[in-house]
Amino acid sequence: MHSSNPLVLVFLGKSGAGKGTQLDIFRERMEFDFIGSGDLLRARKKEQDFTGKKIASVIDNGGLIETPVVFSLWMAEFEKLKDKGAELKGIVIDGSPRKIREAYLMDEALNWYEWNDNFKVILIDVSDEEVLSRIANRRICKQCGEIVPYVGELKRLTNCPECNGELIKRPEDSEQDSVRKRLEWFTKEVGPVLDFYREKNKLITINGNQSVEDVYNDILKALELK
Ligand SMILES: [Zn+2]
Repeated sequence: MHSSNPLVLVFLGKSGAGKGTQLDIFRERMEFDFIGSGDLLRARKKEQDFTGKKIASVIDNGGLIETPVVFSLWMAEFEKLKDKGAELKGIVIDGSPRKIREAYLMDEALNWYEWNDNFKVILIDVSDEEVLSRIANRRICKQCGEIVPYVGELKRLTNCPECNGELIKRPEDSEQDSVRKRLEWFTKEVGPVLDFYREKNKLITINGNQSVEDVYNDILKALELK
């Protein structure tokens, strides 16, 4: 990979699709830099100015931050990464774009920084039924509280991988409801974003219904990195 022309990847997926796990692998194994809208907003809300205080109150009430505010944070981050020059190996972006307006802005921002040619959107694709089953079946360690996702080889574990404690199911109806709401939101808001990238030939769809390593290998193959 030519270092002055880094890969820029956006990861999209329903909650529970395993997006966060893949992001972590890219950061660790590929040494990609990371931009997460959630992290940026959490850092910004510590500042005691108007926007800092307002972000804190909106987030605490479960609201979404308006696009221009998120966008200004990405731009500042892109600028810092551009400054790394040849040291920049790649970028993984999490948490954006979550709606079509953000996708347009992201497109223009990437053009500005001359990164759009190597920009791809990775969709970790799982069905709604699979997401709900993962939430319903995931287990927690009685001893240390470690959460064991109900995916791939982890399904077979009988004891905690961290402390060997007993694993128990923790069915929570309220959690199922909030997951259902997030699934509806995904279809309504993120659906058009996926269509936008599909038309531009930027969308790579990966079957999320397989082990973490297999998902990772499929992504590498799709990006022609192996
Ligand atoms: Zn444990």
